[in-house]
Amino acid sequence: TATDALLELRDLHVSYGKTAALHGVTLSVRPGEVVALLGANGAGKTTTLRAISGLLKPTRGEILFDGASIGGVAADRIVARGIAQCPEERHVWPAMTVDENLAMGAYLCRSAAEVDRRKAAVYERFPRLKERHRQLAGTLSGGEQQMLAIGRALMSEPTLLLLDEPSLGLSPRMADEVFDVVREIKGNGVTVVLVEQNVHNALDVASRAYVFETGRVVASRDCESLRNDPELLGAYLGA
Ligand code: ATP
Repeated sequence: TATDALLELRDLHVSYGKTAALHGVTLSVRPGEVVALLGANGAGKTTTLRAISGLLKPTRGEILFDGASIGGVAADRIVARGIAQCPEERHVWPAMTVDENLAMGAYLCRSAAEVDRRKAAVYERFPRLKERHRQLAGTLSGGEQQMLAIGRALMSEPTLLLLDEPSLGLSPRMADEVFDVVREIKGNGVTVVLVEQNVHNALDVASRAYVFETGRVVASRDCESLRNDPELLGAYLGA
């Protein structure tokens, strides 16, 4: 029911200029869940994340987070409410060190001691980043940059983490590591919305999935049943 949800999208419409990208997306995420958004390129998954994180303003419909309406609220206010987005293609700041990139993730935090405490927590989770804390982010491997982007998002201590294609361009081994991290994040009680091209990895880590096609949700299933539905997987996901 509505009251159980941490995040709820109701009939969400989003446009880029005159071009509509989302045509009435409705979905909900309960606290502590990992929910996957699946679908072909251009189906509207990234647009959905960008609307939730305040980077795009809905033209119609509602976004409810923790009971409050956040549609159209500025991105920094949304971070302050407990939502962090880890964008596609990572976007770490290449000319800044690992340490500086992490600090930027806590830019709303005014206490230096608190920033240090959060950094220490991220370094504990990502020892590889700790070893490289003075290294420029642009010189990290793709997998390390992805870890850094996730670590930076965690620096705001979000209730809800939005992950956009975290395994994109990574080797299978690095992708596995990223998904291990997602499981750990879930284990710590953080709710996750995951956009992922690798359907099998997504279905392994998530409990439920929404399948998107051309700006609409065409299926909403628990991952177990989706895994056993080759017809649906084939039709929308090419898997
Ligand atoms: P991908 O995996 O390729 O990112 P997606 O499911 O995340 O796919 P979106 O990126 O949300 O899809 O794109 C949804 C629709 O919005 C597509 O038709 C896309 O061309 C369009 N779109 C996305 N970004 C923009 C933009 N900045 N300007 C105009 N149209 C855009």
